[in-house]
Amino acid sequence: MAERVGIVGSGLGGFVAFTTLRHAGVEPAEITVFGDDIDPAGAWRPRAAAIRQRLMRSESDGHCYPTSFPGLAAREAVRRRDLVPLVRSVCDRYRPTVAEFLRHVEELRERSRWDESVVPRRINRIHAVEGGFELDRYGVFRHVLIASGHPGLAVPDELAGDRRAVHAYKPHEYASRVTVVGAGMAAATEWLNALAAGAEVVSVRRREPVRRPLNVGRQFFTKRGLAGFYSASRERRVKLLHGFGEPSYPPGKAWDAPLERGAREGRFRVEQAVNGAEQVICATGFRRGFRHDPLLAGLVDEQGLETEDRWIVLADDSSVPGLTDRTRTLALAGAAGQWVFPASDTLVGMKVAARRFSRRVESCPTR
Ligand SMILES: Cc1cc2nc3c(=O)[nH]c(=O)nc-3n(C[C@H](O)[C@H](O)[C@H](O)COP(=O)(O)OP(=O)(O)OC[C@H]3O[C@@H](n4cnc5c(N)ncnc54)[C@H](O)[C@@H]3O)c2cc1C
Repeated sequence: MAERVGIVGSGLGGFVAFTTLRHAGVEPAEITVFGDDIDPAGAWRPRAAAIRQRLMRSESDGHCYPTSFPGLAAREAVRRRDLVPLVRSVCDRYRPTVAEFLRHVEELRERSRWDESVVPRRINRIHAVEGGFELDRYGVFRHVLIASGHPGLAVPDELAGDRRAVHAYKPHEYASRVTVVGAGMAAATEWLNALAAGAEVVSVRRREPVRRPLNVGRQFFTKRGLAGFYSASRERRVKLLHGFGEPSYPPGKAWDAPLERGAREGRFRVEQAVNGAEQVICATGFRRGFRHDPLLAGLVDEQGLETEDRWIVLADDSSVPGLTDRTRTLALAGAAGQWVFPASDTLVGMKVAARRFSRRVESCPTR
């Protein structure tokens, strides 16, 4: 007999799906989470620590609770008996600290009984069978959500093997002359870190960064803003999705002032190519596309899934068409689920996918 729910990936995306299912009344015994790390922040924490991230990029709703409200601002306001987080949130100016976010993950991990469901194993193959999906030799699961995260760090070819190069998401200190490749949030954070450490910093970028608070425009988090995305032709959707990958970081003095000061002191400048710096920090994010994830690539090839460019084509509820019906679900969350939600690699995006998945699990006629 098939098990009820399998989640592949024990990171934040898998965790959000788990808490959403728990809220819908699904018991830990009915959910198996497969992953490399029992800590849901285990993959995320070292990356944020490597770039010394202090504040979340997301706002009050960037959390792992199953419901959007109350968000982190309201909870922090209650805990500190201080209305400031709420006031800032109303003006879209509240960003929780990383410490606040991690405290929330820890509390929710215990309260939701997450640890009871995690099996510390990787899944190498998902095979569609009658009534569900076989996950390696661990059994058949009626409803499966894949939340395997990004498929590895991206390093420019010309820097692979260069001994001066370190990826921004790997632990590192700062040399006295640092080149930072990239122009997104991680790069901007590294410019400030290296300047604060007293370094001379060169920013190498292919494109000028866009300045915006969230990683895609705010409108793409709303139904109305997404309407144009959903009604676009496939070709146009691919174009839009490529555009969302452009480098960006938030506007504001906190970013500009140190860069202007650095430039005045002759310690910050933009160049076109990597020079003779002692250290090259690759703030170049992650590899992109299902082909880099062996599990997804295998699934596409074996089951003949429909793809468009580097994306797996999904139904509007984040499920994989052709393999999903009334009795079983295969769905994608996180970076791999971008076909139906541009900001899928955010906590808000993970919640959208998790709710759609949970609705399918709840409404399934066979348990
Ligand atoms: C530095 C940084 C800061 C960020 N800040 C924010 C922010 O402020 N707000 C926001 O909303 N988002 C933020 N994000 C984006 C997003 O929330 C994170 O990328 C988040 O970690 C994504 O969660 P995930 O579960 O999809 O992937 P991950 O957290 O990477 O977890 C995926 C897990 O799946 C496991 N896995 C992979 N393949 C398999 C397999 N075949 N079998 C079993 N397990 C597998 C991996 O080992 C990993 O444990 C940030 C990202 C980064 C890198």
